Amino acid sequence: MSFSLANVNGRASLVEGGYFFDLSRLSDEAVSSDPMLAITQVDALHELADTLSDSDADGSLEEATLQAPVPRPRNSFGIGLNYKDHAKESKMELPKVPVVFSKYPSCISGPFTDIKLRAEQGDYEAELVVVIGHTTRDISIEESWSHVAGLMVGQDISDRELQLGAQPPQFGLGKSRDTYGPTGPILVSPDSFGDPDNLAITCDVNGERRQDDRTSSLIFDVSFLVSYLSAVLTLEPGDLIFTGTPAGVGMPDQRFLKPGDVVTTSIEGIGTIENLCR
Ligand code: ZN
Repeated sequence: MSFSLANVNGRASLVEGGYFFDLSRLSDEAVSSDPMLAITQVDALHELADTLSDSDADGSLEEATLQAPVPRPRNSFGIGLNYKDHAKESKMELPKVPVVFSKYPSCISGPFTDIKLRAEQGDYEAELVVVIGHTTRDISIEESWSHVAGLMVGQDISDRELQLGAQPPQFGLGKSRDTYGPTGPILVSPDSFGDPDNLAITCDVNGERRQDDRTSSLIFDVSFLVSYLSAVLTLEPGDLIFTGTPAGVGMPDQRFLKPGDVVTTSIEGIGTIENLCR
């Protein structure tokens, strides 16, 4: 059965109908409530999701403090220029192979964590984030989805000056300032979606719609990216892939984030994250 996984105050919990169920308690300690250990037991999460209707919840999500579902990934990848219209607005050629950079794991933050702006050119990028669920090496495109634990909403907050100031550009540092990787609000297993390759994705800044597309517009889709990366290196449970952003980022019109701005990012079937800029 499909599952939704949250990080409630540092403890991994399954989610259903607005309530959360602490994993360790629910499983009689068979599955750890450490989010980084829980994500290594995807098969158990599917089984436990079946038992929720017979269990008492530990609390309501509304009152819970949600943190990043995968707070300390071993690796975190970003994909550049992966939507046609965004490549165009960036005045770049369409990539012939995925443009891959490291979004250093230390930047990963929670679904409602403040973004601590540290420079003038902070920019937003709404993204679908893939979470790997198994040790993954040399797998085919057809096998890819079975290696995915779930999907999250993410923001690939970018410091354009740091990213593009160096020649050639250095994506890694520009994408990795502290708090520049909000993720969440929950991790949703792929079998929860009718079609996990076709989800509406939007980003609003202070209530104004800036990005509005569907993940079916990805140039390199989830299956391709997982297979492609697995041919180069071994992926492990909890590794993240930020799959790229649609058109509408602030850079082309120099509409960068400023203190007080609220960035609201949503993906169909997953939920909404909201981050205040400070
Ligand atoms: Zn990005």
